[in-house]
Amino acid sequence: MLIVHSTMAGDGHLNGCLTQVSVILMDFFLNIFDNYPMNVINRTSPYQGFEQGPIRPPSEAQSLLVRVTRNCHWNRCSFCPVYKGARFSIRPVEQVLHDLDSVAHHVGNLVLLSAGPGLLMEEDVREAFNVLPPEETASFRAALSWYRSGMESVFLQDADSLVLRPTRLIEILQHLKELFPLVKRITSYSRSDTIARMPADQLRALAEAGLNRIHIGMESGCDAVLAMMNKGATKEVHVRAGLKVKAAGMELSEYYMPGLGGIDLWREHAQDTADAMNRINPDFIRLRTLAIPERTPLAGEVRDGRFRKCPDPLAAEEILLFLDILEGVTGYLASDHVLNLFPELEGHLPGDLQRMRDLIWGFLTMEPHIRFIYQLGRRLGLLSRLGDVDDPGRRAEVQEAARRLGVTPENLDAISDAIVKRFI
Ligand code: SF4
Repeated sequence: MLIVHSTMAGDGHLNGCLTQVSVILMDFFLNIFDNYPMNVINRTSPYQGFEQGPIRPPSEAQSLLVRVTRNCHWNRCSFCPVYKGARFSIRPVEQVLHDLDSVAHHVGNLVLLSAGPGLLMEEDVREAFNVLPPEETASFRAALSWYRSGMESVFLQDADSLVLRPTRLIEILQHLKELFPLVKRITSYSRSDTIARMPADQLRALAEAGLNRIHIGMESGCDAVLAMMNKGATKEVHVRAGLKVKAAGMELSEYYMPGLGGIDLWREHAQDTADAMNRINPDFIRLRTLAIPERTPLAGEVRDGRFRKCPDPLAAEEILLFLDILEGVTGYLASDHVLNLFPELEGHLPGDLQRMRDLIWGFLTMEPHIRFIYQLGRRLGLLSRLGDVDDPGRRAEVQEAARRLGVTPENLDAISDAIVKRFI
C-alpha cells in the first residue's frame, strides 16, 4: 500500500531520546574536528534545481537518490575516477528540502493518476510530463522512477554524507520521514575516517532519525595497500568505524576490492581484509573488483610499472584465500557489481562458504581453453555464470566473438581491461 503525506512542512523536533541540547553539543563537537573550509557551504548560492549525483551502490538501484553533498571531500584514492577534478561542496539544507518537496509533490500527483500502487498508464505519464515547466522535469523523472520501484528506500549522495553537521543531516532525515513515512531504508556512503572521528552519540542520533544503513568502501584491510592507494584510512580505522556503525544500531555494508593489492600484495590484501571483516562482522560484504580507468592516478602507476595488475586467475585465488580466512562472519556476501568475474559468488555466511569456495576452485581447475572462454564470455556479457561454459551453443558464440575480435589467451588480459573500463 502506498501512503504519501501531503504535508510539506517539518516541525523540527527530534526523534526518540535525542534532545535538542545534545544535538547542539554534537554539532559543536564536529565543528572542532571539521577540517573543511567554510566556503564548502555557500548559503547564498541560489537553488540550481533538483540534483542527483553520478553514482550509487548497485544495491540502491531502486532507491530515491537525494543529493546532500556534491562530490568527495577526500578525492585522493588513486584507483577512483568518480569525482576527480570536481570540487566538493555541501548543499544548503533548504535546497535539499526543496528537492524532497518537489519529489513529494510529483509522487502525490502520480498517486492520483494511478489505478493502483505503481500502476500508471504511459499516456497519463506523458501528458503530465508535457505540461511541466522545464525546472520540474528532473524531479518528476526521479519521482516516477521511485514510485514505480515501490518507494521503500532512499540513498543520500554523494561520497560521504556523514561529513555534514548532525543537525543538518537530522533535519533532512526528519523531513524525509515526514514526507514518506513508509520508507523502510535510508542509507548513505561514508568514509571510515569520518565515522571513526565522530562521537558515538552522534551516530546514534542519526540512526534514531532514520539513517539505518551505511556503505563503507573498505577496499582493503591491508595497511600497505591502503597507503599505496592513498585511501586515507588504516585497518584499525576501518575496524573502529565499522564497529561504531554497528554499535549505533545501523546496518553495515563493507566493500572489498579484489585485485587492489596487485601481483605484489595480493596475499596480504586477502589476509588482512578477511581479518578486518572478521573483527567487524558486517551485515554485508560486497565485492567490487578493481578496474583501472585511464583518468586515475593508478593508471599512471601501471604505465610506470609501479603497479602490476592481477590477471583474473590470480584475483580468483585471492578471493579464495579471503574466503578461507573468513571466520565468525554471519552476514551476507554479495557480488553485485558488473565488474565481478563471478556474479553467483553470493550467499549467507558462514553456511554458503563452502559452495563459494567450490565455485572458485571450479574456475581455477578448468582446462585453460575453457577458462579463456569463460573469462572472455563474462566480460563480453555473453555468459552470466560459470556453468554457462557447459552449454556448447554459448561456448561457440564466445569462440566466434574471440575470432572476430582477435582475442587470444596472450592478449586476453589487455582486452578484458579495455572492456571493463566501459562500465566505469
Ligand atoms: S573516498 Fe570514495 S569517492 Fe572519495 S576518492 Fe576515495 S573511493 Fe573515491
